[in-house]
Amino acid sequence: MTALHVRGVLLPGDAERDLWIVNGRVRTEPVPGAETVVDGGFLVPGLVDAHCHIGLATDDLAGAEAQARTDRDAGTLLIRDCGSPMDTRPLQERLDLPRIVRAGRHVARPKRYIRDIGVEVDDPARLPAVVAEQAAYGDGWVKLIGDWIDREAGDLAPLWPDDVLTDAIKVAHEAGARVTAHVFGADALPGLIAAGIDCIEHGTGLSTELIDDLAARGTALVPTLINIELFPGIAAGASKYPKYAAHMRALHASVPETIAAAIEAGVPIYAGTDAGGGVDHGRIVDEIIALHRAGMSRERALGAASWVARGWLGWSGIEDGSAADLLAFDADPRQDLDALRTPKRIVLRGRVIS
Ligand SMILES: [Zn+2]
Repeated sequence: MTALHVRGVLLPGDAERDLWIVNGRVRTEPVPGAETVVDGGFLVPGLVDAHCHIGLATDDLAGAEAQARTDRDAGTLLIRDCGSPMDTRPLQERLDLPRIVRAGRHVARPKRYIRDIGVEVDDPARLPAVVAEQAAYGDGWVKLIGDWIDREAGDLAPLWPDDVLTDAIKVAHEAGARVTAHVFGADALPGLIAAGIDCIEHGTGLSTELIDDLAARGTALVPTLINIELFPGIAAGASKYPKYAAHMRALHASVPETIAAAIEAGVPIYAGTDAGGGVDHGRIVDEIIALHRAGMSRERALGAASWVARGWLGWSGIEDGSAADLLAFDADPRQDLDALRTPKRIVLRGRVIS
């Protein structure tokens, strides 16, 4: 494979750098005969979609592949798949597709999540055993459904007793896996956070007190702001459950305040689109812009979808020996996040994709 050479201002930072790419890795020492594929502009470590679903809302692996390609073409080169009914491991072999960190299947209870997507646990006492199975099947993450509508109660309600959560999260940690949970409302949060969960998805029900708790523990939050924009539509379609509909509207209304408080408190926040869960693939830049509008500086919002998120998922930014997953832009995206929509080069695993 021909060695590549790129030159540009490497983010985060302001220094113009010359970098070489050999066998999928970045080198800081010159490599003779390298082909220059970027000369000037700005270099950004590949974008990260920290909440995405590859293989959801499609029937076959070809559909899942198309989803991953759509994300890649938007600059997402690393995906934390937050639960999929499909075994997408064959896609992980593909050099032309984003890297995928899988959480296995959603862990839910019967009638307490979208049908046929998750593993449905009849007896909550079995949660630790099911979590152990998913920890073995996934790539270091397990995804729980923390709350969902309880149709008998007509409102959001937690799925799991607190003591079972403590055991289940312990089991995952012992297996070297981290645990995250889908949570819309407030009631499921104290039990999950006290049990030592590693991340909260959506988190629209977070109170100031719980936000302080997340910040103190270093528990992450992936708010999926462009998905939360769908709450009024969900409420409109739930007229059979007026309490639930009102609850969803109230959660939606308080989002700006909740997210601003989490940013202010220093909660580790990452960009996730929830693509596949009602949101189209390829929208990572919309989520970065939403995080900026919610109160993060442009640079911090970009970091939440690039170098900071990469570190959180066990990958590095661009440095000597790192994976050569990067984007090149003419304009500085820290000045204008819309510049992220038009990468002039996408390099994935050391290959020029476009
Ligand atoms: Zn999701």
